[in-house]
Amino acid sequence: MSKYDYLIVGAGLYGSMFAYKAKKAGKRVLVIDKRSHLGGNLYCENIEGINVHKYGPHIFHTSNKEVWDFVNTIVPFNHFRYEPLASYNGKLYNLPFNMNTFHQLWGVNTPDEAKAIIDAQRKEFEGKEPRNLEEQAISLVGRDVYETLIKGYTEKQWGRRCTELPAFIIRRLPVRFCYNNNYFNDCYQGIPVGGYNKLIEGLLEGVDIHLDVDFFKEREALNQLADSVLFTGKIDEFYDYRFGKLDYRSLRFEEEILDMDNYQGNIAVNYTDTEHPYTRIIEHKYFEFGTQYKTVITKEYSLEWTEGCEPYYPVNDDKNMTLYQQYKRLAERERKVIFGGRLAEYTYYDMHQIVEKVLNEYEL
Ligand code: FAD
Repeated sequence: MSKYDYLIVGAGLYGSMFAYKAKKAGKRVLVIDKRSHLGGNLYCENIEGINVHKYGPHIFHTSNKEVWDFVNTIVPFNHFRYEPLASYNGKLYNLPFNMNTFHQLWGVNTPDEAKAIIDAQRKEFEGKEPRNLEEQAISLVGRDVYETLIKGYTEKQWGRRCTELPAFIIRRLPVRFCYNNNYFNDCYQGIPVGGYNKLIEGLLEGVDIHLDVDFFKEREALNQLADSVLFTGKIDEFYDYRFGKLDYRSLRFEEEILDMDNYQGNIAVNYTDTEHPYTRIIEHKYFEFGTQYKTVITKEYSLEWTEGCEPYYPVNDDKNMTLYQQYKRLAERERKVIFGGRLAEYTYYDMHQIVEKVLNEYEL
């Protein structure tokens, strides 16, 4: 008999949710992670009393009451609302695009005035099939919104000109004709009080954990420890890249501790001009309404993924999706291994989707 029912590779949200559920079902569980901390990309480091989101800002949002109630049984969530700003050539605009933004752009006060301007500008490519992202964006929201708030940011994100990017990348650009800066439309939104580590530690309470263990370096020995494996690492790596490597977009973070209590007065400022090389600055204390004497900010840069960089976003184009399907077919034949999470399923998941999936999908 194996020592464990499940070996869970990856202590991110997926692995931690699965471990929680398996433990509740009376299973013996071992969680390993190659990093030296728990939480995967949710991990927070406490710096100057501020929980710094080390792998990018994370806001939990959902309209699923079961999911919200569940995470709140693990750790209470605060009433944080994500209301980012955009900075373009020194002027600030509210996001997402709403009546505040239109007032700042054109001085209009009513929805009818804003709609009239947008409708007139959208006509620029009327009757024509958009040939690239620029034409698509202008057809959806008009030239002013595109040039002020979309163009520079998107070009930094993709490392290419909007005229060289395919139109399908932007299918919708939600526009609100009301004065509402709340980025998410979901019923529930917040940050765990005390940071995401509390959520992960709560889920993993009582579970055996080994950090700094790379599954691929000790594969044989680890496999023998458990009857089944939940794998949340990269699916192409699991199969030794036999069909080729899946592509990702990556990010680079530049963190600064500042000797002041308030740097930008808001959680996030997106830089939509080309003058600033980064896409946004996050001021972490705003996640938990911090009153510390110092502040910590992170400048975020978008990067092409190369070996050694952290893989953040799957690239869901035809080439990569076809490649992923080849790996998925192999995965479906595995009897002992379950593949789950953003890397193993080559899918962008928001956190609430992972919680919902693990709560409902597995009979353990
Ligand atoms: P991960 O967090 O990546 O966990 C996988 C773990 O497996 C890692 O810890 C890794 O070290 C480990 N691992 C991999 N390979 C091995 C190996 N060979 N051996 C041992 N361990 C291994 N979601 C939201 O809902 N709201 C947000 O605001 C939000 N913001 C985001 C911002 C950014 C910049 C990014 C990139 C994502 C954001 N997300 C957000 C999505 C969120 O990060 C994911 O839903 C979540 O992290 C996925 O969890 P996971 O367990 O699948 O993956």
